[in-house]
Amino acid sequence: MELEVSDLEKEKTPKYIQGTGITELDIFADRISLDRNKSLDYYKDIFYQCGKCGTCRTGFQEKGWYRVCPSGEYGKFEAYYLGGKNLLTWAVSSNRLNWTENLSKIFYQCSLCLACTQQCQIPEIHHYAGEWLIAMREEAVKKGLGPMPEQTRYSEHIALEYNPYMEKHKDRRNWLSSNIIQNQDAKLAYFVGCTTSYREQSVAKATSEVLNSIQIGFKILDEEHCCGSPIYMTGQTDQAKKIAESNVEIFKKAGIEKIITSCAGCYRTLKETYPKKFGLEHDIEILHLPEFLLEKLNDNELKFNNNLNLKITYHDPCHIGRHMGIYEPPREVLKKIPGIELIEMPRNRQNAWCCGSGGGVRSAFKDLSSFAANERIEEAKESNVDAIVSCCPFCLNQFKTNIKNSNIKTYDFSEIVHKAIKS
Ligand code: SF4
Ligand code: SF4
Repeated sequence: MELEVSDLEKEKTPKYIQGTGITELDIFADRISLDRNKSLDYYKDIFYQCGKCGTCRTGFQEKGWYRVCPSGEYGKFEAYYLGGKNLLTWAVSSNRLNWTENLSKIFYQCSLCLACTQQCQIPEIHHYAGEWLIAMREEAVKKGLGPMPEQTRYSEHIALEYNPYMEKHKDRRNWLSSNIIQNQDAKLAYFVGCTTSYREQSVAKATSEVLNSIQIGFKILDEEHCCGSPIYMTGQTDQAKKIAESNVEIFKKAGIEKIITSCAGCYRTLKETYPKKFGLEHDIEILHLPEFLLEKLNDNELKFNNNLNLKITYHDPCHIGRHMGIYEPPREVLKKIPGIELIEMPRNRQNAWCCGSGGGVRSAFKDLSSFAANERIEEAKESNVDAIVSCCPFCLNQFKTNIKNSNIKTYDFSEIVHKAIKS
C-alpha cells in the first residue's frame, strides 16, 4: 500500500508519553509500569540489563548516526556514557565498588540532558535511566562527595538570597519598568526565574509585553524565589524540597491558579518535580510560554504585525524537550510568524544536542560546557540560518557567551514573538 504524504509525515513524528519527553514505543508498553522519581534502591534490578552495546552514544535511528552525549564525547572513556554509568551504578549499589571523589565527579560531569535514554532500546533503561542519574547524585550528597564545590557555593547563596547568581533578592525585579502593566488581583502569575531576572532580562521584558499585548491580567510575585532546580539537579533533594514547600505556600497565599514560565528549568521543576518527586500536590496549572501562546494564537487573541524576514533554527531545551515532551508548541508558534523560515538542525527534538549549561555542568565543568555549546553553535551555522532560537534563558545565555563572532545571532522564543507583535 502506498502511503499518503501526510501519513508519511505522521510516521516520521515521534510520539511522546504525556508529560514526559520519553518516546512512546508500542512494543514496550507492558514494560513501563515502574514509577519515576524514586530512589536508587527502587531501580536496583534494572542497571545490569544494560548490554554495553553503545547505542546510547548516537542518534542511531536518524540518517547520519549523529553523536548525542556531550559527557561521553568530551570525557572519551566509557564511564562518561550512559552504558558506563549504568555499570558503575550497578557496582556501587551492589557493594562491588566504593564511592570515591572520582566516581562522584563522573556522575556530576553530565548535563542530565537525557539524550542517551532516548536511544537505548532496553525499555526500562529507556524510561528510567534519567531517574537513577539523579539518584546517584543524591547518594553522592549523602556520602559527602557531592555537590561539586562551585555548586555548593551557589546553593549557599540560594538559601540566603533566593538566587544562585550571588545577587541580592531586593534587585530581582529591577528589570520591571512602568510600561509593564500588572494586575495585582490576577490569579495568573508570570514566574520569571533567576536566570531571566538577573542575567537575561530582555526575556522578562519581552514575555511581559507579549502578555500585555493580549490583555492578559497577570502579576509577578514580590516574593518570587528560586524554584530550586539548581539544587535538585545537583542531588540536594532535601534542601530543594524545603524551597519547593516554601514556594507552594507563597503561590497559595497569593491566590495563584495558573503560572506561566519562560524558563525551561523552572517549568520542569514546578510541573514535574514539585508534585511527583516532592509529593507537593497543588491545583496550580503550569504552562510554558509557547504552550500558552499557541492557545492564544489558535483563539485569534495573539496577532503578529511584522514580517521578520529571518531564517532561524530552533534549539530544544532539554528541560522542556526530553524531560517534559514539549517539542511542537514553540515550532508551531514560530512557523506562524510572517517572514520566519524555520530550518531544523540535523539533531532535533529527542535527538537534540544539549547546549551544555544544565545539570550544574556550566558552573563546575566549564570546558565541557563550552565544548557542548560550541558544537551546537557550529551545527546551527552549518544549517545556514541567521539565528539560533531557544526557549530557555539558560540556553540563551550559554549561546551568547559562546558565540565568538557575529556570523550567527541568538534569541529567546519570547524575543522573537515580541519582535513580531511590536507596533
Ligand atoms: S544504556 Fe542501553 S544503549 Fe547504552 S550501552 Fe546500555 S543497553 Fe546499550
Ligand atoms: S544525560 Fe546527556 S550528558 Fe549525561 S550521559 Fe546522557 S547523553 Fe550524556
